[in-house]
Order: sequence, then C-alpha cells, then structure tokens
Amino acid sequence: MNINKNYLNLEDSYLFSTIAKKVAEFTKNNPDKQLIKLGIGDVTLPLAPVVVEAIKKAADEMGVQATFKGYGPEQGYAFLREAIQKYYGRKNVHLASDEIFISDGAKSDLGNILDIFDIDNNVLVPDPVYPVYVDTNTMAGRKIIYADANEKNGFLPLPDENIKCDIIYICSPNNPTGAVYTKDGLRKWVDYALKNDSIILFDAAYECFIKSNELPNSIYEIEGAEKCAIEFCSFSKTAGFTGTRCGYTVVPKALIKQNCSLNKFWLRRQTTKFNGVPYIVQRAAEAIFSVEGQKQILENIQYYSENAKIIADTMDSKGIWYTGGKHSPYIWLKCPNNMKSWEFFDYLLNKIALVGTPGSGFGKNGEGYFRLTSFGNREKTIEAMERFSNLI
Ligand code: PLP
Repeated sequence: MNINKNYLNLEDSYLFSTIAKKVAEFTKNNPDKQLIKLGIGDVTLPLAPVVVEAIKKAADEMGVQATFKGYGPEQGYAFLREAIQKYYGRKNVHLASDEIFISDGAKSDLGNILDIFDIDNNVLVPDPVYPVYVDTNTMAGRKIIYADANEKNGFLPLPDENIKCDIIYICSPNNPTGAVYTKDGLRKWVDYALKNDSIILFDAAYECFIKSNELPNSIYEIEGAEKCAIEFCSFSKTAGFTGTRCGYTVVPKALIKQNCSLNKFWLRRQTTKFNGVPYIVQRAAEAIFSVEGQKQILENIQYYSENAKIIADTMDSKGIWYTGGKHSPYIWLKCPNNMKSWEFFDYLLNKIALVGTPGSGFGKNGEGYFRLTSFGNREKTIEAMERFSNLI
C-alpha cells in the first residue's frame, strides 16, 4: 500500500489561521475596540427573495408523491442548463445546453477537471494566485510554472512564447488582485493556447462584477476559445450561493484534443464520479435567471460594487496604487511606505482595528501588497475607510 506522497509537497497555508490568531489576540487585549473585517472573501447579504421562494416551492414538490425527484441527471437539469444557455446568448456566446454542466460550485470542478488530463502536463498559474489551482495540481504531482503578475503588467501577465505550458489557469476578474483582462489580453492567451495546443482553464467566478461591455465576461467572447478553453463559473458571488452551493462548467464540443472530445470525457467523468446537484438547489439557481431574479441579484452586486468604490476612492485620495475595485469586489493595494504585507496587516490591526488579507499569502509576488474586500456591510466599510484616511 502506498499513499499519495504528493500530499507531502503541499505547503501548509498559514494565511487565514495566522490572521485568526492575530485577530483573537487583539480582541482579547482590546475588548473595547470595534473590529472591522474587510478580509473576508465570503458574501454577507442574504439570498434574494425569488431564490428563497424557489427553494420553498421545490421543497414542497419533494414532499409530494407526484412531484418527488430522486437521482437527477448528473450534468444538471435541462431547465437550469437552458437558463444558463440563454444568459450566455445575451452576450452573444452561443452554447449548446449539453456543453453546460451543473456543479456544486467552481472549486470542486476546478479540482475535478484535472481527472481528464495526464499527469505529464505542465501547468501555468499566475503569481499571486487563488491557492486551489496550485494545491490541486500539487496533489496530482504536476509540475507548476508561475507567470509573474506584478505592478509592471498591472497584475495581468501575458503569454511568454519561450515557455511551453500545457494547462493554463486564468482568473478574470481575478482573486486576489481584482484585475480584469481586456479582450485583447485574453485574445493573446487564446492565440497562444491554439498555437501551442494548450488548454485554458478560465475561472469566471467574479464575472458578474464586470460593468463594462468592453470587458469580456466569458472567454468564449474571444474567437477560437471554444477550441482551447474550459470555463468555470459559480453562483457563489453572483447570487450569494456560497452556502447553498451551485455553479457550472462549460466544456465546448469543439474542444478536441488528440482526437478525443473533452466534452465526452467530462460527461463520462461526471456520470462516473458525481450524482448531481440537489433538485432544490438547481431550482434556486434557475430563479436567479428570471426577470425578477436578475433584478434582485443585481441589487446585491451593486451594493458590493458601491462598497468597492468607497474603498477604491479612498486609495485614490491617498495616492495609493491598486488594482481592482471597479469590476471586482477585491481591491489589491500596494502597502504604503514600502511596508511588507504582514507589517501592514499588524499596523492596520493595531492602529485602527481593521482586518485585511496580506498579499504575501497568495504567492511571492504578493509581498508588499494587501487585499481588501467589498463583501462587508456598508456602514462598516465607510467607517473602515474613515479610520484608514485618518491613519495614512
Ligand atoms: N474561483 C475563485 C477565483 C474564487 O475566489 C472562489 C471562491 O472564493 C471560487 C472559485 C470557488 O467558488 P465556489 O464557491 O463556487 O466553489
């Protein structure tokens, strides 16, 4: 019996546990100080009323013999896949409904998709990075190459023709940096992937925060992407589903590698290892796409976007360099006075009881940067920025 020793190569992530430890100590020593947390990557607003109604209605159906549902289709019910298909259609991206696979969230599929790729592929991830891309590949024993994201390229690295990579991760709008690729930027990646026979794993978990028609919500807005990209999306940030769990993955039928259809491979993988998302949750997700649903979720997205603007405006007024905040719930700022990430964390915590996330926790290029998020409450975001302005 041999265990998967690749697990020994995983780096322990001390980021959130260290933050929690430091915050607990601060609270113990300063019980009278009002702590504000702008470090969280989780939503705080409740589910939209249409979603709650859909959950109740679906639960009632499950309790009645005539409408009870057992196992559903592994790839998701047609009603939800068709609602997503229409949503893409509105952006002029035309997908077949069997190119869309419903999941219990983007994180699972971002890890599971690796089942259909050989271990020998090398993998390109940006640095700084959402840690799931690195850890899932490390578990499988794949070689990881880092693409430098930095102030010079606006934290949006472009392909390097001298480096051959097989699997490329792109997250736009990005976590942690909030940076968003333009169509031109994505086109360069698509051209690279087509030329080098690579595959792009495109994480669109934050696409709903894009406010400009000029910026791509989906990689399939770029010609040729259907031949080289898989797209992952989630209702977590779009509609507050972090605890409800639903997302989807698009695997185009035009995605043929070594004469094999990756759409067929993924369907085979899912029908073998996955039994689908609960009917009740899929009805909840379907409700997001109704006219009223779109209106209600937009109110929440706007709420977070306005919080982001409050934070970004504060950075502007202080002359602090940052990315994100405009088409993203994340603001990625350069620590003032050349402070290191943890130094700035301690400074904000001890001086103004404000919690953010040190950029160094997302990779070596994150050193000297800091992430603030807009998922908090409005009054607290305003208060946090007042404290920040008075301090810096
Ligand atoms: N992708 C990115 C970039 C994320 O930041 C997150 C969650 O924070 C996810 C995917 C996971 O989303 P889900 O809740 O759908 O698993």
